[in-house]
Amino acid sequence: MIPRPLRPLQLWSLPMNEAPSNHALAAQVRIESRAWIDGEAVHARSGRTFVTLNPATGAPLAEIAACAHVDVDAAVKAARRAFEGGAWSRCDPGERKEVLLRFAALLRQHGEELALLESVDSGKTIRDCRNEVAHEVPHFFQWYAETIDKAFGRVAPTGQNTVSMIVQEPIGVVGLIVPWNFPLLMAAWKLAPALATGCSVVLKPAEQSSLTALRLGELAAEAGIPAGVLNVVPGAGEEAGKAIGLHPDIDMVSFTGSGEVGAYLLGYAAETNLKPVGLELGGKSPFLVLENAVITDALIESAVMAAFWNGGQNCSANMRQIVHRRHHEEFVARTVERVKKLVVGDPLDPATDIGAMITSEHRERVMGFLRSGADEGARILLGGIAPQDDPGFFLQPTVFDRMTPGMKIAREEIFGPVLGLMTVDDDDEALRLAVDTEYGLHASVFTRDIGQALRFARSLPVGTVSVNSFSEGSVATPFGGYRRSGSLSRDNGLEALSQYQQTKTIWIDLES
Ligand code: NAD
Repeated sequence: MIPRPLRPLQLWSLPMNEAPSNHALAAQVRIESRAWIDGEAVHARSGRTFVTLNPATGAPLAEIAACAHVDVDAAVKAARRAFEGGAWSRCDPGERKEVLLRFAALLRQHGEELALLESVDSGKTIRDCRNEVAHEVPHFFQWYAETIDKAFGRVAPTGQNTVSMIVQEPIGVVGLIVPWNFPLLMAAWKLAPALATGCSVVLKPAEQSSLTALRLGELAAEAGIPAGVLNVVPGAGEEAGKAIGLHPDIDMVSFTGSGEVGAYLLGYAAETNLKPVGLELGGKSPFLVLENAVITDALIESAVMAAFWNGGQNCSANMRQIVHRRHHEEFVARTVERVKKLVVGDPLDPATDIGAMITSEHRERVMGFLRSGADEGARILLGGIAPQDDPGFFLQPTVFDRMTPGMKIAREEIFGPVLGLMTVDDDDEALRLAVDTEYGLHASVFTRDIGQALRFARSLPVGTVSVNSFSEGSVATPFGGYRRSGSLSRDNGLEALSQYQQTKTIWIDLES
């Protein structure tokens, strides 16, 4: 079957003489459904496709090229040719910078189109998509572009008859595998530093949300990124993803997604060429309200956003909220009041706070957690109800009180709009509960005592600690997990560059 873009959807009929609505604008966005390999948009070699749905309506959006081993192999060959050719990998970093700045500018120029596409493809709100896709994504490319011509090597201390240089080189052909919850942003987190270092890339978006990644190829070519340097292979994890993991000519893989698939990737590397695998995995992050915290509107806003931003489909969502008994009553009352005001619905409406869940299967999975929480004795303060009978995959937010550490909802990543409250009698107990998890991605701590904030920050085995806020940092700050939340690699910040580089020593004897 030949892939063909389907028009989004029946939703939008534009009344005459009315300013174009987001629905009308989304209906006009061009959908690219082919892979991008060696500088061209191509169908899967098998001709196979898969259908992607609009999570807000359940209706088909496009039939996308279903890439498999043979397509990944073609992409790797193109990437290798480009890498060995040196036009990108060995050019003056200042040239790569100029091209990446043009790429950032083009992404900005196409920001609204990409934001609309991301929203209909993933069910994310247009408000978040505008921020992430139209604003943050170009900023990432700009930031790494501006970094790369200022990254110096080093000279080691030696005797005077020797010069020893330590230089960083691009690792080669890298495979990037990303999830559906922040489709283009997660791709940019990895692509921007990988391209800046001079690597060639084979990117696999999640099958539920491929469309914005598929627009990257053409924009990259327009910016001047040489053919073969950026390849995008949509397809199933078991096919295109596994083919990347097992490919003997891919030099490293950087992955964001579930721990289960992260473990497969380590296995694939062990079976093949021992490629390094960077892992950014799940979380079960705590949100601590300590005894001397003050319950302000800002704290409540942080608590609510920490649990419900992106419908809770967020690796660093702080759904485990651990609150000192002194604050319990006020915290519960104000949190529930704020959550009631969250608008769940049409992702394209700028007033919407929570769009659609990514798929009906994922919503079912989250509903299973709601049932389990109730069965195990947590008290539902809000939500917990079956979704309304509509074709989209919406789910109202749920707040549980009296969650206890042994409950399934307190231990496993839910990845949905659920907040669970645990009440403690002192701050030591709060710390004990916070660390009682196999994950270590993120934690928020609320206290008025800076000494206590720093003690907690140093004691929590997590990659990011936010004090008196819910924040994941910025492009400048590394992001990644301790424990089962990730490997030693980090996305973002200058640290991300080293994922895609190797260190070489050049030792020169001046006497011989
Ligand atoms: P997932 O692991 O199911 O899929 C992620 C990617 O892996 C997709 O592109 C998928 O197609 C691919 N994949 C699936 N099976 C594969 C296989 N056998 N071989 C190779 N690739 C395969 O995860 P998801 O459901 O898309 O995303 C949700 C998960 O991602 C959550 O656990 C979340 O916490 C995590 N996440 C982590 C971060 C972080 O930075 N730590 C950020 C966002 C999401």
